[in-house]
Amino acid sequence: EQPILQVRDMKKHFNVGGGRILKAVDSFSIDIARGETFGLVGESGCGKSTAGRTIIRLYNATSGQVLFNGEDIHKLSGKKLKQFNRNMQMVYQDPYASLNPRMTVGNIIAEGIDIHGLYTGAKRRARVMQLLSDVGLNEEHANRFPHEFSGGQRQRIGIARALAIEPQFIIADEPISALDVSVQAQVVNLFKKLQKDHGLTYLFIAHDLAMVKHISDRIGVMYLGNLVEVTSSQDLYAKPLHPYTESLLSAIPIPDPEIERRRERIILEGEVPSPLNPPSGCPFRTRCPKAMPECAAAKPVLKEVEPGHHVACHLY
Ligand code: SF4
Ligand code: MG
Repeated sequence: EQPILQVRDMKKHFNVGGGRILKAVDSFSIDIARGETFGLVGESGCGKSTAGRTIIRLYNATSGQVLFNGEDIHKLSGKKLKQFNRNMQMVYQDPYASLNPRMTVGNIIAEGIDIHGLYTGAKRRARVMQLLSDVGLNEEHANRFPHEFSGGQRQRIGIARALAIEPQFIIADEPISALDVSVQAQVVNLFKKLQKDHGLTYLFIAHDLAMVKHISDRIGVMYLGNLVEVTSSQDLYAKPLHPYTESLLSAIPIPDPEIERRRERIILEGEVPSPLNPPSGCPFRTRCPKAMPECAAAKPVLKEVEPGHHVACHLY
C-alpha cells in the first residue's frame, strides 16, 4: 500500500538577511504508513517543528517533495487544496496560547466545521457534543471559556478542534511537553484511543525519547536540521546506531537501580552549533565521541543499514 505521507529530501531554509541562510531543515526524508504513529525527536531548535510546519504546508519547502496520498502538496490548488487542509490537522504544544480566550469551547471546536461549511444548527451542535465526549469532556463544557480549564483539559479541547473535520493525519507538535507529568500519560492514552477509533495517522513531535516511547511505531531522530536515524521504536531502544541517539538514550533514567548503576552515561561536550553556521561534514561531529577524520570531509547520508533501520553516520 502507498504510504499516506512521503517526504523526499525536504529542505526548509530561511533567508535571515545579510546573506545568511538558516538551514532549519536540511536533510529530511520519511515515509509514514496509514495508521502509523511516527515519533520525531530532537533537542529544541533542531528543526522538528519546522519540518512539521512544512509538511502541513504552513511553509513552502525550499526544495524536495512532500507527497500526501501520492500528491505533491505544493502543487495542490482549489478543491484539492481544501481537501488537503481538511485531511491534515495540527495539535499545538501550548494549550494556553493556541485557544482563542474570547471564544467558547464549543465555537473553538466548531471552527473547522464552520470554515468548511460541514454542519449548521442542530447537526453542528450534535457534532460538537460528540467531539467533547470523544476527548473525555462533557456537554456543559461547550459554553465555557478556555481559562476555566486545566492544561490537560485545554489540550483535549485542542485535540477535539483538530478532530472536528475528520482528518486522516494529525501532526502533534510537542502536545504533552507543557503538561504536568501526571497528565502526560492520560493525553498520550487519549491520542492512542482516538487513533484506533478514527483510523488516524500521527506525526508525533517531542523533545525527548522517553515521551514518544509508548506511542510511536517508528521514531526519527533529528540533529541540527538533519534526520540522523530512523527505525522502529523497539529497535531504536534496543540497538541505537547513531552516536547522537546513543547519548539521548543514555540520558533516560532506568527504573532498575542495579542496571542504572552499571550503565555508562554519555555526556556530550559543547553546545549544539548554530544552524546559521553548521559544521562541515557530519553535523554532529563537533560533539560526537566517535568522530573520525573523515567525518569532517563528507556529510553522511541517511541509508538503510539493516532492514528498516536507517542511519546517517560514517561508522556504518
Ligand atoms: Fe560521529 Fe562521524 Fe558518525 Fe558523525 S559521521 S555521528 S561524527 S562517527
Ligand atoms: Mg518546537
